[in-house]
This record gives sequence, structure tokens and C-alpha cells, in this order.
Amino acid sequence: MKANRDISIPVNDATRKVLHILEEEGLEAWMVGGCVRDALLGRPVNDVDIACSGLWQQTQAAIEAAGCLAFETGVAHGTLTALVEGETFEVTTYRVDGSYSDGRHPDSVSPARFIEEDLARRDFTVNALAYHPERGLFDPFGGRADLEAGVLRAVGDPKLRFAEDELRVLRGARFASQLGFAIEPETLKAMRAQCGLPETGLPDTAAADAGLHHVAAERIALELTGLLCGDYVHDALMRYADVIFTVLPELRPLWKFDQHTKYHVYDVWEHTAWVVQQTRPTPRLRWAALLHDCGKPDAFFMKDGVGHFYGHAQLSEPIAHEVLRRLKMPKKFSREVCLLVREHDTVVPARPKQVKRMLRTLEGRQDLFRDLCNLKRADSMAHSPEHQTGIGFAADMEECLEQVLAEGQAFSLKQLAVKGGDIAALGIPAGPEVGRILNELLEAVLEERIPNEREALLQEASRLR
Ligand code: ATP
Ligand code: MG
Repeated sequence: MKANRDISIPVNDATRKVLHILEEEGLEAWMVGGCVRDALLGRPVNDVDIACSGLWQQTQAAIEAAGCLAFETGVAHGTLTALVEGETFEVTTYRVDGSYSDGRHPDSVSPARFIEEDLARRDFTVNALAYHPERGLFDPFGGRADLEAGVLRAVGDPKLRFAEDELRVLRGARFASQLGFAIEPETLKAMRAQCGLPETGLPDTAAADAGLHHVAAERIALELTGLLCGDYVHDALMRYADVIFTVLPELRPLWKFDQHTKYHVYDVWEHTAWVVQQTRPTPRLRWAALLHDCGKPDAFFMKDGVGHFYGHAQLSEPIAHEVLRRLKMPKKFSREVCLLVREHDTVVPARPKQVKRMLRTLEGRQDLFRDLCNLKRADSMAHSPEHQTGIGFAADMEECLEQVLAEGQAFSLKQLAVKGGDIAALGIPAGPEVGRILNELLEAVLEERIPNEREALLQEASRLR
């Protein structure tokens, strides 16, 4: 099979230079994987990976002979990082993977002679493309046709490929969400089989041993975060819910959970999928959106034929906390997501007093407050069309925040016109008592009982003593 010269993608000077440096030394080199895929799609290209026929020592010698730097970042797998014209490139020797006995990593990798062998070890056809500015596109697995059709198809026998490396199951769902592609039916069946799910899907039930047992929690977290931040996340959450529930079993009860209320036209899972879709695509907001209603099934009760979920946000928080802990998310991130989950349904009238109170609940963080507004807005957009008044409330809340900020109104201890030292100077021993008094002063200021002015605060502090 030959490369197709009729196809061209933009290639910058630094990339041309790396390819040239390697080929000058008699090696063969190609741009491969995600950069070719994204360039063909007209999407921004993140990093350019290079596959090269040379062993890493030869590659290193070529790069250094050209006066550039090559770092030994992964030589056990034949990978160097080249620094050329201020850009970094991963340059990896053509390789074939040995057997996989741990369901995640090849037991060994060995150098290959031809680019075709290297492409064959890659996960999806759209990722198994190689490109060279002079030779054109090399596409032995029909990746370009799949790109045009919007299809994710495993390279080779899908069952085998997912059994080799379970991470590919999550990568598949993530690419579906990022690219808006559909997973080809045989590929999807194999993904489900690897999860221990019925091949025909639908997550009403799951086998007792369902799950991806060979992927580290951190990798699951990374892939799910990529999925959540995708442009087509609603569709991915709906189509691949069963696969997603194998790594997030806490969310399975949301599937088809009928809300029995006029406020909702969707079951809890589809409502959730829409809320995720309609939040800004940052990891914190998207995770908060995913988890915001996970306590609903536990809070549910029916009265006179109508469903109620009082206190569901409080029930969602510990579930969210457990999910994020299990996935080994950073503690700070988890705390922030949990705060948003817990407060997502709290009514915040658009008045400075109430806004400042919520700011205090959110640890004085205006970025969290803005996220809360965005979450509330998305939540409301995912209600039935007649019950979306929350969209306006969220906008009013945010406008009121601007007012509070513009006027420099106090909502945190930092902003009080007195400090710990001032309180200690009143003869109160430094320690918890000072903290207690400062907090009470802030309460009094928030309640608008006293102004945030030094004299008034000192007077109140003496009284509190
Ligand atoms: P992005 O960087 O946008 O996540 P990508 O396709 O570049 O997408 P990387 O993880 O950077 O993904 O991997 C680069 C290439 O390596 C992929 O395009 C694919 O060809 C191959 N690859 C990565 N991970 C795997 C895997 N687990 N199994 C098989 N091939 C893989
Ligand atoms: Mg990449």
C-alpha cells in the first residue's frame, strides 16, 4: 500500500525540520496519530507525534547532529522528546507490541521495520494515520473514510484490542464525546463485552463482575474528564451510559429514573446529560454537573402522584465525594466540586445580603460563585420548557455578584476592616477566641447589623468579649 499524495494538511516549519533531520540521516519518519486526525478534521492540533524507523539511539544521534536536543523520556518504549525550534516532539521508533497479560500494558515492545506495523498497534482507525508533507497520507486501515463518516472503529479484531488494553474502552467513549463520532457497532459490542455488559447494551442491569479492572483510577479520572469536557458530551453520556456506569456505578440508578413532576421532561440521567452539556466545559463544572443530582433516587418520594426530591443536593454530596475519592481526584478539586453539588439547588435571591452569604459558604471564592451560577443556569435549561425561570435567576445572581464586587462589599474575613491583631490588642489572648470573634464580626457585617468600619467593629468586638 502506498501513501496518497493528493491529500495535504498544514505542517509547520518546526515539524518539517524534525522530519528532515531524521530523513537526512537515512531514516524514515512520519507524523502520526492524533495530530494527523485533528488536522484532517480541521481541528486545532495539540502536539505532533513522530514515528521513526530508527532505533532511539540513531534518532538521538540524528537530532543532536543537527544541533537540537533529544531527551530520553521513554527509551524503554523507544521514545525520545526532541526540542526543535522551541517546540517539543515525541519521536518513537516504529514498534510492535508483544503480548498483553495485564489487560493494560504490553509485556514487551520491539522495534518494527515498517510504518504499517506501527499503525496496526494503534487503537482506532482514525488514530492509525500517518502523514508526510512530501509523501502524503498513509492510511492502511481506512481511517480517512471513518473520519469522513464520523466513525470510531477499532484497528483489527475489536475484542482482542480491548482485551489487550482496557483503557481503549474509555478512550473510545472519550473520543466519541470530543469528536461527536459514533462507535461502530462491532467495536461497541467489543467494548461492552470487555466491561462484562450485554452486547446489546442498555444499562438496566449489569453483571456482578462488570467493570474495567485493569485501568488505574487516575487514568479513569483523566479519560472521564476528557469525555465530560467534550463538545458532544450529551450524546456520549446517552449512547454509552452502560459503559460509563461500569466505572461510575453510583450513577446507574439515575438511568431511566422517572421524576414524576411537571418540572421535568427527562429522566434523571438524561436531565444530567443535558446539564453537563450546557455548562462551560471546565473539569470542575462538568464534574459538578455530572454529579449534581446523584442523590435524587435516594431522596425520591411520591405524594398525590407527584415526585419530590427534598434535600437531594445534600444526599448527592457524599456520593460525589466518594466517587471523586475513588478516582483519586485531587482533594482541593473534589472539595470544590462537592461544594457546587451541595449548593446547586440552594435558592439565592439576587440581593447583596444573600449573595454575600453564598459567597461565604463558597469559601469567599467568586470563581466558585460564577460556576454555581453557570450550573444553576444549565440545570434550569434542562427542565421542561415551561419551567426554566431559573435561567433568569442565575443571570440576576451573577449581576448582583458584580455589584457586590464593584462596591467592595465584604464577604470574607480577609475583607474585614479589622484583623486578628486588632482583636488581640483588646486584651484577648491570640488563639481560637480571636477567630470566633472575627467570625461573629463578619456575621454581623453580612447581616448588615454593623458597617464594615474599624471603629464600629472594635466596639462590637469589645461587646462580644
Ligand atoms: P489526544 O492527544 O487528543 O488525546 P491522541 O490520539 O493524540 O489524542 P494520545 O494519547 O496522545 O492520543 O496518543 C497518541 C497516539 O497513540 C494515538 O493517536 C494512538 O494512535 C496511539 N495510542 C495512544 N494510546 C493508545 C492505546 N491505549 N492503545 C493503542 N494506541 C494508543
Ligand atoms: Mg496526543
